[in-house]
Amino acid sequence: MSCKDTQELLDGYLDGELDIVRGMEIESHLRRCPACSQVYENHQALRSAIRARAPYFKAPAGLHQRVRSTVRQASKAEPASRVVTWRAPWRPAWNLLGLAAALVIAVLTWSISARLWSPSADELLAQEVLSSHVRSLMANHLTDVPSSDQHTVKPWFNGKLDFSPPVKDLTNEGFPLVGGRLDYVGNRAVAALVYQRQKHFINLFIWPAFEGPGIAEKTVTRQGYNLLHWTQSGMTYWVVSDLNRGELQQFVQLVRSSAPLPTSP
Ligand SMILES: [Zn+2]
Repeated sequence: MSCKDTQELLDGYLDGELDIVRGMEIESHLRRCPACSQVYENHQALRSAIRARAPYFKAPAGLHQRVRSTVRQASKAEPASRVVTWRAPWRPAWNLLGLAAALVIAVLTWSISARLWSPSADELLAQEVLSSHVRSLMANHLTDVPSSDQHTVKPWFNGKLDFSPPVKDLTNEGFPLVGGRLDYVGNRAVAALVYQRQKHFINLFIWPAFEGPGIAEKTVTRQGYNLLHWTQSGMTYWVVSDLNRGELQQFVQLVRSSAPLPTSP
């Protein structure tokens, strides 16, 4: 992220309005860039100064009365009509009914739109997978077991997970294995395998799938990253990278063809 982007997004960051990936990008830039972190500190100082010292005026005592009497006079100036006098005794009840109806409509609208807009389980997982990917690259915590040897990486997960993830080095196919990592996605510990394609890192997340019909390959793009997921032989797979979709698809085909067959133990 550039200095210009960072400083443009700084207000949103201070107000907590950015998504997690953007927020982390900004945090990481601020750690590295003294100029931007100075701007950030100035913003913060200004905000707390405003909060602490900006004058707060109490409305003068007579204002309330003056507004009320102006409103009263204005309504007196309106020609009194028979309809108003006739309806007067009912008015409070009608107002309450109107208010209740408006409330019911507001609640209904809110719950319907909340249902329409609530992200699906897939959508939430995609966001988690993407956050894990970005975090692994930012925090310099790409691997717990840095090794291109599948016979080192696979046994490393023993005792750390309640399943054994399939691990295959794909160096000969152009996607060398970089290592493995324990991660936490979808409320459970998962295996993260890290592969590389030139300068692009690929995180492959694996965990046991729920019983039920398998998921065919699905592709999504979020914030410039490509994500693919599917289930196969009782495992859920999520792949995420900034690699282009074509090459990532190629990687997925390699993983799919090297994954164990359903009949194997
Ligand atoms: Zn900067």
